[in-house]
Amino acid sequence: MSVPELLPVLSEAEIQKRVTDLGRQISADYRGEPLVLIGVLKGAFVFMADLVRRLEIPVEIEFIRTSSYGKEDTSSGEVRLLHELGTDIRDKHALIVEDILDTGLTIEKLISCLAAYHPRSIRVCACIDKTERRINDLRADYACFPVDEGFLVGYGLDYGEKYRYLPAIYAIKNLTSEDPK
Ligand code: 5GP
Ligand code: MG
Repeated sequence: MSVPELLPVLSEAEIQKRVTDLGRQISADYRGEPLVLIGVLKGAFVFMADLVRRLEIPVEIEFIRTSSYGKEDTSSGEVRLLHELGTDIRDKHALIVEDILDTGLTIEKLISCLAAYHPRSIRVCACIDKTERRINDLRADYACFPVDEGFLVGYGLDYGEKYRYLPAIYAIKNLTSEDPK
């Protein structure tokens, strides 16, 4: 079995600078408004932790987990919430914080799940925006980095539960079909 190789894509410094800018932009857009950030576990946990510390406005924090049927490297589109939302988001602005927006299926389903809680608005903030494989017209309202291709790990992103702890983002190469996804 070949050894997976990690190619640097985004450095820790690049990520931190961009997250700081994004934090300012989100703060300006929602100033004076009730805002709940909803992080999608597990992948968004690092991005979420960095982003909230760059905000200049008070926010509430919530996390959700979704279950997706089918292979793990592509979304099946059959997404559901694994638990009820713990925070009341009725009449508050909801900002979904996601690691990667890829096909867009996960977020599309998530938006319709969250709409049942009657928030004032729902927007999407993604650390990575991969538009190439998008199969719906969903766009990230906020995105740190557009990335064309490759399977990324680090900064919360995993490959078979590995690499989430890395502070930078890498493309993983030399994957074989026997490697765990
Ligand atoms: P989609 O937008 O296709 O429904 O699903 C996006 C999800 O697929 C992301 O939240 C992430 O969990 C996973 N994903 C998509 N691309 C990548 C990638 O390059 N690396 C990792 N680790 N996960 C990815
Ligand atoms: Mg995810």
